[in-house]
Amino acid sequence: MIKHHLDGDMLQQYAAGTLAEGWSVAVATHLALCPACRSELSTFESVGGYFIDSESADDADVSQSWQSLKAKIDAGQIDKVVPIKNRFASDRTYPEPLRTYIDAAGGLRWRRLGRGAAQMMIPTGDETTTVRLLKIAAGQPVPEHSHRGVELTLVLDGSFSDEVSTFARGDVEMADDSLMHQPKADAGKDCICLAVTEAPLRFKSRFLRLIQPILGI
Ligand SMILES: [Zn+2]
Repeated sequence: MIKHHLDGDMLQQYAAGTLAEGWSVAVATHLALCPACRSELSTFESVGGYFIDSESADDADVSQSWQSLKAKIDAGQIDKVVPIKNRFASDRTYPEPLRTYIDAAGGLRWRRLGRGAAQMMIPTGDETTTVRLLKIAAGQPVPEHSHRGVELTLVLDGSFSDEVSTFARGDVEMADDSLMHQPKADAGKDCICLAVTEAPLRFKSRFLRLIQPILGI
């Protein structure tokens, strides 16, 4: 039973097709596991379709509150898009579309990080994010990693706990640098997660890249 879902903003951007590829991989993978978010997505798509059909996407309409739009959908004034059927086999550890990305990278290839942890980078065409799989040994803390900006973690197998909650298969945790947390894989099973982070700034200058960690930018 999934307890921690995608945030509405991200789902809305995904529905509109404006979400960067790195985040979209995680959103689509969560959708493969989560009927509740698939239903939520179809609501966003209904609203999108309403604006396109009625050509009424002027400022006044767009500024309508989400609640009033939702009321229109419920009252049948806006056609509800039929909830997307789950096209993907979600019983596998790596559901589609994640599996396709892993296959494109030549299959699962873990790189050891120490303390029983391992990671695998998932290449995408998106330079604004970094996407990787993380494996954390049962009972061990997540290896020290620095990140700035937003980090999304989607659990694929096992579970982890931090100061906020416990996260199991399908659960999503959004963290930014304001959240001090020390996630730890729960005992009994290794925890495998998909992690998406905002990519660090890329400088053209080799010198700037060299001193980047020192400057903390
Ligand atoms: Zn969900």
